[in-house]
Amino acid sequence: MTSPLIFIDGTARAREEVLTNAARAASGLHARGVSEGDTVAVLLRNDFAFVEATQAASLIGAYCVPINWHGRAQEIAYILKDAKPKVLVAHADLLAAVRDELKEALDGVLVLSVPTPPELVRQFGIPSGAEKPNVSDRSWPVWLAEFGPWSSAPPRSRATLIYTSGTTGHPKGVKREPATAEQVKAYGELMRAVYGMAPGVRVLIGGPLYHASPNACLRQAIAQADIIAFQSKFEPEETLALIERERITHAVMVPTMFVRLMRLQEEVRCRYDVSSLRWVIHTGAPCAPEIKQALMDWWGPVIYETYGGTEVGAVMLSTPEDWLAHPGSVGRLTPGARIALYGDDGKPVAPGEVGEIYVRQDSLADFVYLNDTAKRKSVERDGLISVGDVGYLKNDRLYLCDRRSDMVISAGVNIYPAEIESALIQCPGVRDCAVFGIPDDEFGESLAAAIELEVGCELTTEQVRAYLAERIAKYKVPRRIDFHAALPREESGKIFKRRLKDPFWSDTGRRI
Ligand code: ATP
Repeated sequence: MTSPLIFIDGTARAREEVLTNAARAASGLHARGVSEGDTVAVLLRNDFAFVEATQAASLIGAYCVPINWHGRAQEIAYILKDAKPKVLVAHADLLAAVRDELKEALDGVLVLSVPTPPELVRQFGIPSGAEKPNVSDRSWPVWLAEFGPWSSAPPRSRATLIYTSGTTGHPKGVKREPATAEQVKAYGELMRAVYGMAPGVRVLIGGPLYHASPNACLRQAIAQADIIAFQSKFEPEETLALIERERITHAVMVPTMFVRLMRLQEEVRCRYDVSSLRWVIHTGAPCAPEIKQALMDWWGPVIYETYGGTEVGAVMLSTPEDWLAHPGSVGRLTPGARIALYGDDGKPVAPGEVGEIYVRQDSLADFVYLNDTAKRKSVERDGLISVGDVGYLKNDRLYLCDRRSDMVISAGVNIYPAEIESALIQCPGVRDCAVFGIPDDEFGESLAAAIELEVGCELTTEQVRAYLAERIAKYKVPRRIDFHAALPREESGKIFKRRLKDPFWSDTGRRI
């Protein structure tokens, strides 16, 4: 029996069919001039076409750049101009929504239009008019049918081009040299270990595939899993039903999903049997220790966490047992990883002291930033790389404080907003939050909190302050509190604080 890939609303396809389509797509792309070393961009929601297009690019040895479709038109245009792909594979409706703004960026790019599947149209409420086939001469499925499967030998080069999330500025294209055979083997083993992959696992991919972690998990799952269930949109109760129905053993999720699952009424949570879960991994954004603890009380010791970044790969891994013994840490070094922390004076800090985190994963080949080679030097120290985070080491475990660029210096004191967010997210009625620094005449900077409330909840700024004052030091309670209808939080779990911060700083002429 062939193993199906299952889409969340029940649309299933055999793995073999998807892989054959990928091989046809490779032939098609090659016929249109895509060769080893060229770039193919994809602007697709979680859909079979995503798997087919990305696999096709790697069969040819082309760089594959998945673009964050939650991004604004200018952000999508930025990546297209920077990456200069030969081909863009895009869902018709996503393209239709940004086509005017992308005109210049798409100049000379062949666009292959993928009809938006009916189940996605239902989920996202896409107006049917937006689905009309557009730029390409033929749409993806018609196009695939025209080609026989790609049968050439695997490419020699295994170079990659992956963009960072653009949380602290423009996304950066991380272009990696071809890895050696030893590195490929070692990183494959590491990925299997990080995602707990073994034959017969039943995998749920909760996050968007354009993000590095779900994507890496998918690559492993294609080779190992009995079932891969994608979620194109997260609904907490549906997720529990899916875990029960498909007896999911392994899942990739983000902390905001954990929060929303924990917010379900206990009586709703108890309705679902999630005892099949053995390995739920998260990465990419901080998770409040209390939320993680509560989830482990419910699901058992199954929550894994990895820390790293596009430039450095997975450098730390926390197992549930280790996290329960060292709550709040992001774990210990993965095999092949190295770490050192440096103070503002550029000297290594002692264990327990806060410093900037520099890491390296030796099973990954070296990289450059595409179109910005000078930047590469500025992030390196003693052969290790910083992705801009601050933290400390204790008992060989890494604890993150925050991103360096998010640290607030108020009256000369360093404050890490992540600590305040971790307390605030637990305040009943708070659905999501972000804390950041704003200009302050007296203190240089002071703290502001942006809060998204649960639907139907009301909270006053005084209530929020009172809640925080009982849990954190008084000087860390934000002076300014604003309520927002929705915060710029991506499904990858990352929050785009710059979009909240920038308006406060734009008049000051000071660097954010
Ligand atoms: P950009 O570099 O463009 O600003 P980005 O740093 O978000 O975006 P990524 O490479 O996608 O780009 O993400 C890496 C970052 O994600 C890390 O630097 C860190 O801040 C955050 N991160 C990764 N793992 C964890 C984790 N386990 N807990 C908290 N934050 C994490």
